[in-house]
Amino acid sequence: MTKAKIAKAIPRRPFVAGNWKMHRTASDTRSLIEDIVGRVQKVATVDMVVCPPFTSLPAAAETLGRHSILALGAQNMHQSKEGAFTGEISGPMLREFGVRYVILGHSERRQFFNETDASVSVKAEAAVGYHLRPIVCVGETLTQREAGETNSVVESQVRGSLAHYPADQLDELVIAYEPVWAIGTGKVATPKQANEVHRLIRKLMASLFGAKGSGVRVIYGGSVKPENAAELMAEPDIDGALVGGASLDARSFFDIIQAARPVRASEND
Ligand code: PEP
Repeated sequence: MTKAKIAKAIPRRPFVAGNWKMHRTASDTRSLIEDIVGRVQKVATVDMVVCPPFTSLPAAAETLGRHSILALGAQNMHQSKEGAFTGEISGPMLREFGVRYVILGHSERRQFFNETDASVSVKAEAAVGYHLRPIVCVGETLTQREAGETNSVVESQVRGSLAHYPADQLDELVIAYEPVWAIGTGKVATPKQANEVHRLIRKLMASLFGAKGSGVRVIYGGSVKPENAAELMAEPDIDGALVGGASLDARSFFDIIQAARPVRASEND
């Protein structure tokens, strides 16, 4: 069997993560987690993650307790284990609260906190070393899209952000394609527009890492709502969603999770 055929047989499990950004205090976190957990009990075919602010992680972990159905993620991480890095949080600190995922290179981090592909790359490599699964974000700005630069920008971000990524840890990786112009704006990429970029990322991953690279899950983010989720996730190369605003409402988040398609095989070639 050729490598490409092996990749075709690997199922990509749908993945939906909620990025709470800088919303919800620890006490608000408890009730939101309880509400989400109450709704997702019977969901068996989707990987589900919530990423509250750092200060809410202990409350989230405590509330989740044995409910491992919902995994915890952080929104950023410093690459060092510890050190004189005022205001930063390390991988081992996150692991202590049962955090399994970490969002890296979100466009808000790139825009407001000078994250670059190079820093994301160092963090992604460090994250897997701490047994955290990176959700690496890429996406073009409106100016770049209008200039016809979407493909080159996204390709360069994927190459740069994964420059040091260990090839034997691809199962741990999730890539989020988030067009910057669609984040928090209510403007959503059309399913076709999004899928074209997802396909590009998948092909690039195959060329960078071989057959296993094409099996990495690529999720879409940017104003995903219950009303558009099914249409987006019905596209063959869209494996799920990174949800901002709508993840702060348990009902909306649950509806988006329900819209995720069940297990399917890779359709990359
Ligand atoms: C995000 O924060 O990653 C995001 C996609 O936000 P929103 O869904 O609010 O556009």
